[in-house]
Order: sequence, then structure tokens, then C-alpha cells
Amino acid sequence: MRMALRAVWAALVASVALSAMAQPAAPGSTTPAEAVPPPPPPITLPREVLQSAIGLREEALRSNLAYQLLESLTTEVGPRLAGTPGDLAAVAWSRRKFTELEFSNIRTPEVIVPQWVRGEASFDVLAPFPQRMVTLALGGSVGTPDEGLIAPIVMVRDVPALQALPEGAVRGKIVFFNGRMQRTRDGSGYGKAVRSRTEGPSVAASLGAVGVVIRSIGTSNNRIAHTGTLSYNISAPRIPAVAISNPDADNLERQVAQLKNGAAREVSVRLRVTARDLPQVRSANVIAEIPGTDLAQEIVLVGAHLDSWDPSVGAQDDGAGVAIAMATAKLVANMNPKPRRTIRVVLFANEEFGLSGANSYPADEGDASVDRHAFALEADLGDGPVWKLSARVPERYWPVVDNAQKLVKSLGVELGDNEASGGADLGPLRRRGVPVLAPQLDATTYFDVHHTVNDTLAQVDTSHLQQSVAVFAIATYLAAMVDGPIPRLPIDPAAR
Ligand SMILES: [Zn+2]
Repeated sequence: MRMALRAVWAALVASVALSAMAQPAAPGSTTPAEAVPPPPPPITLPREVLQSAIGLREEALRSNLAYQLLESLTTEVGPRLAGTPGDLAAVAWSRRKFTELEFSNIRTPEVIVPQWVRGEASFDVLAPFPQRMVTLALGGSVGTPDEGLIAPIVMVRDVPALQALPEGAVRGKIVFFNGRMQRTRDGSGYGKAVRSRTEGPSVAASLGAVGVVIRSIGTSNNRIAHTGTLSYNISAPRIPAVAISNPDADNLERQVAQLKNGAAREVSVRLRVTARDLPQVRSANVIAEIPGTDLAQEIVLVGAHLDSWDPSVGAQDDGAGVAIAMATAKLVANMNPKPRRTIRVVLFANEEFGLSGANSYPADEGDASVDRHAFALEADLGDGPVWKLSARVPERYWPVVDNAQKLVKSLGVELGDNEASGGADLGPLRRRGVPVLAPQLDATTYFDVHHTVNDTLAQVDTSHLQQSVAVFAIATYLAAMVDGPIPRLPIDPAAR
């Protein structure tokens, strides 16, 4: 019985296999061997280059250049919100430092930026338990009347929860977005929570709300509020919007809980903001280069943004990125063999308030120049350390990423994937098919200080900066040394 079954089974399998083999090919198809020519073999990097990259890593781990630059920027310039005198001082500082560091082709193409004046903001609970809370206006917020705006609040978790409320639920009221940001190593918690800040005010206004207060989009439990830009939708009235610190948001949440047990009839607050918009003004991208040798026409771009929010000196956001980019290029400049491609540092104007510099850069450069960008990297998530090396490069160039990661594996850097976005300021280049290398900075504690009064030099760790520079420098150097030409990636206008 058993044997018989097995024999039948074997016969069945054989016949299925035979019939599969006998299937005629689908019309128009060919065998794989004829269809595609074999892909070009993955590129290789010369042994000499990999060997001298080890020296680069060690030099970066010893160098204090990034920290010195950051100390200088935060001390001599300080806050540098786009459109303020601090912003222009930062442009002048960058020119001076690039000159001192003997960069070439230093230039500052003009970028027009908005000019928003923060003024003052206050937030007082009037009932049921009166008290003042720590607040900051959201970037771009309109002001309130002089005497402030008094209204009851309606608490929701996020934008979808607001949209799910019954018609009229927030008319004449102040919406309190209370969703908490999750702490993550890759910073993804920020992207999820930030919608309340960017879209929340206009969604609330379109439903008849008169103001917005949000729980800070940050992970600090200290009594500091977190600012950042909102984005008014043209179809809704502009209503004032502020953030309160996380402990204050906890307190407000407890007051709202009194409504459920009937201990309070409403939670009413007074919101006062004196912010206003002034006409746009001039700022600039700052560009400086380390000229290449035989492939000097091709560019490896290392970027960061020069502007910061105004409540502090922007040591982590993005002073650290500025320092990492400048120190990376300077260390690579000293390499032997010399970088074949030109290393170009771009310090972008006004990332925080609308990516002005990133958007004007490709247009200023022109299509032919954008096509000469072989690779781009960006540092905009604090001082590090780098925990993963990801990229978005043509398949054949993956060995650049793989070799770079092997060289920094001992520094705790994992190998990532080939689907990185690279960062906000690289968006316009990425959408034009420029390959990116993406060292991922550890963001676990970054959002404790980001966009707050605590974003100071005291929060920066020298050894983190050194490790980050080591990884950026290795990736930049290998990108500058590999044979070309580097093909473009498929153009994706919708790419992040
Ligand atoms: Zn930033």
C-alpha cells in the first residue's frame, strides 16, 4: 500500500515536471540568456585607496576640527533664523572659515527667504485650574489680538482624530493636539508626530477653530517647548498656533480629564502671540570646494543647512551638520592619493522655514552642472554617532557603500539598504536622479533638544562628532575615487 502510493506520487511529480518543461515559451519572450546582456560587473576600488582610507578614519577620530568649528559657529554667530541678522552673520562666518581652511571657489549665491518675527507668546489656563504654561509660537504663526484669544479647548490626538469629530465640534474653539512623539534611533517618530504641527492649524481652521496648541513634537520631559514650522493651507483662515512643553501638555491633559468626571464644565485658555511676517529678504547658500584631479569636473556634494531656529544656537540642528560637512571635506583634501572628483560643501540657506536654499540650488547650477553631481551626502540629524550606512546608488556602485561600511564597522556602523532618501536638502537633487550616500546619524536623544532652548554646545559630544566625521569622510573619499561615469538613477519627481 505504502509502496504503491509512493509510486503513484512519483509518477505524478514526473509528469507535472515533464509538462512544465514542455510548455512553449510565451509569445515574444526569450530565454533569460538571450534577453538581457549580463550586467556590468560591480566596480572595484583600488587596494591603495582602501588602504589609505584606513589612515583617513584614524585621522578623523583624532581630529578636533569639527568641534572647533561648531564652537566657533555657536559662540561667534549664535542663533541664525533665516532672514535675521544672525543668518547673514552665519554666511559671513562660513566664508571666513572656508577661506581660513583654504577651500577654493568660495561663493554665496543669493537666496530669497521669508522673514518671520517671533515676538512673544504666552499660554494661560483660565479654568478649571488657572496657571501659566511654557510655550513657543510655531514658526510662521500669525499673531493674536493684543489682549490675546480666549476660548475653550478641544483635545484630540492628531489630525485624523480631529477630522473624525462631529460637525461643529471645534467651531470657535482652540484645538489641543496631544499626540506623543515616539523616541526612535532613526528619527522616524518625528515624521509621524509632526503632522499635527504642519497640517494641524489649517485643518483646525477649516473646521472653524480659532487657535491651535500642540504638545511639543519632541521627546524631552523637561519644561521646554519645541518650535518648528507650520504650513498654512491657502484655502483656510490663518489661525495662531503654539506648542507647550511636554510636562505642561501632561498637566493640560489632566485638566481635560476633569471634564469626564464632571468636575469641570470646560477647560478654557488664553493664547497670546505677537508674531508677524515682514517682507522677504536676502540670504545665501554658501558653496566651497576642494578641487579634484583627473575627474575634477564631477562633484561629490556634502551638505548641511546653515540656518537654525531662534530660541538657541542650533548646535545640534544643524551646527553639527555644518561642522561635519566642513571637517569631512578638509580631511579628504589632505588625502594621498588626492580626491579625483571635486568635493563641494554646500551650506544651504533656510532649510527650517521652507527649504529655500535646497530649492534654488539646482536652478542656480543649471541642468548640465546637476548632471555632473556624482554623489551627494547630507548631515542633518545632530552630532551622531553614525549607526548605519545606507545609500541610493546604481546597483553596480554598491561596493562603494559596502567597502565604506567595512572600513567603519569597528566604529559600530551597520550596513543599511539601497533605498535611503538622504535628507531634506538633497530632495531636489535626488528627484533629478543624483545618487546619494546616507550615513544615518543616531537620533535617539536628538529630539530632546532639537528646536528648543536647549540646543546648545553643552549637548554635543566630541567623540560622537569625531566618529561621524570618520564615516562621512570615508564615504566621501571612496565616492571621489571610484571610476565613473556614475549613471543617474531613474528620475522620480515624487521622491521624498
Ligand atoms: Zn535641521
